[in-house]
Amino acid sequence: MNRLAQSKFGVDISNLKISYNLKGQRAGIVNPAKKEIRLNKELCLKYPEKMTNEVLVHEVAHFVTFSISPNAKPHGKEWKYVARTLGLDNPKTTHNMPTTKARKVKGYFYKCGCNTYKLSSIRHNRIKRKEAEYACKYCGEKLRKA
Ligand SMILES: [Zn+2]
Ligand SMILES: [Zn+2]
Repeated sequence: MNRLAQSKFGVDISNLKISYNLKGQRAGIVNPAKKEIRLNKELCLKYPEKMTNEVLVHEVAHFVTFSISPNAKPHGKEWKYVARTLGLDNPKTTHNMPTTKARKVKGYFYKCGCNTYKLSSIRHNRIKRKEAEYACKYCGEKLRKA
């Protein structure tokens, strides 16, 4: 890939930094200014081949595209051309590898005489259906919707 980038586009990618510490939903990101590509840690462990053959090439293609044509659209025809030249058969915008979603616990805020509490939706629904009441263990007041 290095030789291809050099010979086809005159872009030296040999000093690109690659780190494997990206978290979240994205498979990879590139920072052309810092010459850095970050790949999703979880996906690298689960799908090492796909990450090397597809995502890394995808991100390198972004870097090369940016180097030769900084105003090109992120996944426009320049990028597609570069990606194909670097060996990506079917350049895609997004990946379809599942990542573990960081679970956001939805909460509901309740107040008593001294504090604010975040209750789970289960508790919140019990209160709404008048199936349960919760009281503050410090001031003893019944929790009410904040
Ligand atoms: Zn991309
Ligand atoms: Zn209280």
